[in-house]
Amino acid sequence: MKNDLAYHSPSAWERYADARKQVQTLVGRYLDFISRCKTERETIAYVQERLAAAGFGEDFNGERVLRPLRGKALFAARRGTLPLKDGLALIAAHADSPRLDFKQHPLVEQPGVVQAKTHYYGGIRKYQWLARPLALHGVIIHENGERVEVSIGEKPGEPVFCIADLLPHLAQKQGGQKLSEAFEAEKLNIILGHAPDGSRPRGRGKAEKEDGLKDALLKLLHKKYGITEEDLITAELEAVPAGAARFVGLDKALLGGYGQDDRICVFAALEALLTADAEASRPLAVIFWDKEEIGSDGATGAASRFFQYCVEDLAAAWAPGTSASHVLLNSRALSADVQAALDPDFQEVHEKQNAALIGHGPCFSKFTGSRGKYGASEADAEFFAELRGILNARKIPWQAAELGKVDLGGGGTVALFLAAYGMRVIDLGPALLSMHSPFELASAADLYATVEAYRAFFEA
Ligand code: MN
Ligand code: MN
Repeated sequence: MKNDLAYHSPSAWERYADARKQVQTLVGRYLDFISRCKTERETIAYVQERLAAAGFGEDFNGERVLRPLRGKALFAARRGTLPLKDGLALIAAHADSPRLDFKQHPLVEQPGVVQAKTHYYGGIRKYQWLARPLALHGVIIHENGERVEVSIGEKPGEPVFCIADLLPHLAQKQGGQKLSEAFEAEKLNIILGHAPDGSRPRGRGKAEKEDGLKDALLKLLHKKYGITEEDLITAELEAVPAGAARFVGLDKALLGGYGQDDRICVFAALEALLTADAEASRPLAVIFWDKEEIGSDGATGAASRFFQYCVEDLAAAWAPGTSASHVLLNSRALSADVQAALDPDFQEVHEKQNAALIGHGPCFSKFTGSRGKYGASEADAEFFAELRGILNARKIPWQAAELGKVDLGGGGTVALFLAAYGMRVIDLGPALLSMHSPFELASAADLYATVEAYRAFFEA
């Protein structure tokens, strides 16, 4: 019998104290990934490149297959030794993150500056995006289909962009307002330029538009990219925090960077898929979706039929005669998404006994949803217990948590879209501090533990 019958959440740092070298190597690869992949498109391109290098191809008759969708979502699978009819071992994550999208008519000339008007994407705290360097990523498509890839503000020496914030002396009224009133979406305008078009005289008494700031910017855009203002209407331009991810803290134990929700899980799932030993395993699969941050609707989101179509084609190629619905029903899935770590300065929003601790390994969320578990899928006790056993057998630290206090917190993931097929699914991912902010924090030990956990799931 165990001497200590109580449960204690194990520390990932203690568990991997002897594996500092391996943790460092993984962290190096991760920081490069999270610094380079700032959009869903860049993330999917990175994944596709690494899969292609590992022999994954688009012909579903192969042993290692992949299928991208519009450069924003991707399905990949590896054959196991068990037949497909027994179901997939699937890990699902999302490649999109909160950001500021350019409006269709973005350019506006204001006194002294030309700005881009934005429409925010996903759940942001608006004030976090003011007075900080922003980079611009995206694609501009000419009407003949020719594409221009945009990435400005990441390389040393490149200019960045910025939303100016109000001087404290002028923010007396704002200081007394509710947050939702003090920071308006229509004021999230990004400064793109300041110098006037030299062809016109400039002066105070003139109408503001007469400085020709917008004209000057359009000339610059045309010179650099060969585009006109109409090309911006159909473009996808995303403003994201500029700069590379980096270590946080003297001990370099935390990793700070944008878009770790949920790209840390995309990265961990990819690492696990590439390194898992598929001997005696089910066929392994990953699905990386877009649009999770805005409810998973849309062609590249989890609510679309893309994943189902992939499984149908996989069944036709790998196991003719096997019905895809059978495969889906028998599959076992991890909804790989991040959890909110117990915030050291806002502990009161959590119910501490059921909050995730940063540095204590990936966190299971048995259910998501809110206010009486509404809008949730919930994993069954049998599946959860089996997974716990799989991780315990390898001494992989894990924990279980809810998102905030009952009736105050809650949230959704892609789990319920997989549960709709009747498959067993549970959320499992690392806990982050400052989630959804421009600079999210993850624990290096949690990253390592999460890759170990996903690999154990695949090899079970
Ligand atoms: Mn997420
Ligand atoms: Mn999120």
